[in-house]
Amino acid sequence: AASPQTHAFEADVAKLLHMMVHSVYSDKDVFLRELISNAADACEKLRYEAIAQPDLLGDDPAPRITITVEADARRLTIEDNGIGMTAADMAETLGTIARSGTKAFMDRIAAAQGGEGTQLIGQFGVGFYSAFMVAAKVDVISRRAGQDGAAMWSSDGLGTYTIGAVAAQDAPARGTRIVLHLLDDAADYAQAPRIEQMVRAQSGHVPVPITVKDKPDAEGTQVADGTALWTKPKSAITPEEYKDFYRSVAGQWDDPALTLHYRAEGRHEYSVLAFVPETRPFDLFDPDRKGRMKLYVRRVFITDEAELLPRYLRFVRGLVDSADLPLNMSREMIQDSPILAAIQKGLTGKVLGELEKTAKDDPAAYAKLWDTFGAVLKEGLYEDFERREALLRLARFKTTASGGEWRSLQDYVAAMKENQTAIYYATGSDLDRIASSPQLEGFRARGVEVLLLPDQVDSFWVRGAIDLDGKPFKSVTQGAADLSLIPLPEGADAPQAEPSDAVGAFLAFVKDTLGDAVSEVRASDRLTDSAVCLVASESGLDRQLEKLLANAGQ
Ligand code: ADP
Ligand code: MG
Repeated sequence: AASPQTHAFEADVAKLLHMMVHSVYSDKDVFLRELISNAADACEKLRYEAIAQPDLLGDDPAPRITITVEADARRLTIEDNGIGMTAADMAETLGTIARSGTKAFMDRIAAAQGGEGTQLIGQFGVGFYSAFMVAAKVDVISRRAGQDGAAMWSSDGLGTYTIGAVAAQDAPARGTRIVLHLLDDAADYAQAPRIEQMVRAQSGHVPVPITVKDKPDAEGTQVADGTALWTKPKSAITPEEYKDFYRSVAGQWDDPALTLHYRAEGRHEYSVLAFVPETRPFDLFDPDRKGRMKLYVRRVFITDEAELLPRYLRFVRGLVDSADLPLNMSREMIQDSPILAAIQKGLTGKVLGELEKTAKDDPAAYAKLWDTFGAVLKEGLYEDFERREALLRLARFKTTASGGEWRSLQDYVAAMKENQTAIYYATGSDLDRIASSPQLEGFRARGVEVLLLPDQVDSFWVRGAIDLDGKPFKSVTQGAADLSLIPLPEGADAPQAEPSDAVGAFLAFVKDTLGDAVSEVRASDRLTDSAVCLVASESGLDRQLEKLLANAGQ
């Protein structure tokens, strides 16, 4: 056979590897979770391909992951009987950075200061390359399902890797074997009890059974049974098990803030196990705004590209397992299926319902949740007209009267002044700056509460926001806020009802001087301390939106 070819890693991979190898991060255990999750993914990919091509399974249909430790040789081997890789697959996936999550991670690393980078490894799954945290050399030997030839990838993680053919008897009959030649200080990963404990703690709920052996020809101990957690009754699942499953399905290292586990029956039958994370996932503000919910059909993983939730709920992680979708449907056809649309609708309602329930039963927990994901949820206010009311009920705001706390619109409306006809808001890019804007003086003087809106999305949804209980949303910068109907408290200087002649002459002078730069100059009730402020015309764009559009070059 031809001798193996040597290739250089892509620059980004080299960077990532360098960081991995020099990581002082203490929790190196994460590598095992990554390799097991790849092995499980490979088994699920095979299960999916075998729907169209059953003979790919041959006489070995049951998926399995086997981990072998060899203490004397200081070796750890993770083997699966999944889809496998050809030499070309290896060159494509094990020398580049394919997954978007890893790209996001690299961006964070590039922006990170000093030691923060190594901390990040622990918070974030970094995939296959994490093997180099514990191994001096990694061999990947693989045979793609349905193919005769096998290939081997090998690297010390220092800049290059080799790929070559291997003899049939040295490769798994199907799937991938990953051999880690452990570093001196990682020798205890070649101890069976250590590995068993790690598998139970990190990967106990992957949907493929996992066996640990303490020598290649041993029986081994089954450490995880591969039962899909979501098929078990809620009462049989502990919070620890949910947390463990959440971490492996979401690729997160925090705890779930909310767990949603239910079975929908009736016209469509499906199970849902979904989580709202405690912290923002890395890719939350990626431009593609993709969700990560996984779609299964009768326990077969189909895709994580199906849009199971609207984009403004993209922080929800987990899965839906449908009983009615046909297995032999292409992923593209599934996307257009009315069954999927029904699931989407049901699931969206359920997630919003759960958020509403939390808001009612545990306002403190909800405030934290809103702090983390409110800016994303608000996208729904202009993207999902059907549910805008529900979303307005969920929305929380900092206001001129809330003292830094989150406040609901219901509370705002209940506290409105007599004669106040609108819900007033002020937009901007920074909460403190909005709060100190002169535009707010007249409102403050009259005790009229103003919503402070610092997020980019705010300028968009307020434009389209129809009334809440008959009260329109109105920007403080837009037109003459009709404050004259609302009395100033006793003792405050009353504004003049009609500008005097002198004021009139002054206004004419200012308009003359500024010319076309302004459309109108008028006396206003809204200022109490400042002499002047800029406002948009009643029908024109809000000032903040004007700025945004100007920045976007429109
Ligand atoms: P991710 O799993 O997010 O794609 P990884 O870095 O963990 O990223 O893995 C990179 C790629 O290598 C995988 O997408 C897959 O194509 C391939 N791969 C890794 N391990 C295996 C395996 N055990 N079987 C088949 N393919 C694998
Ligand atoms: Mg992976």
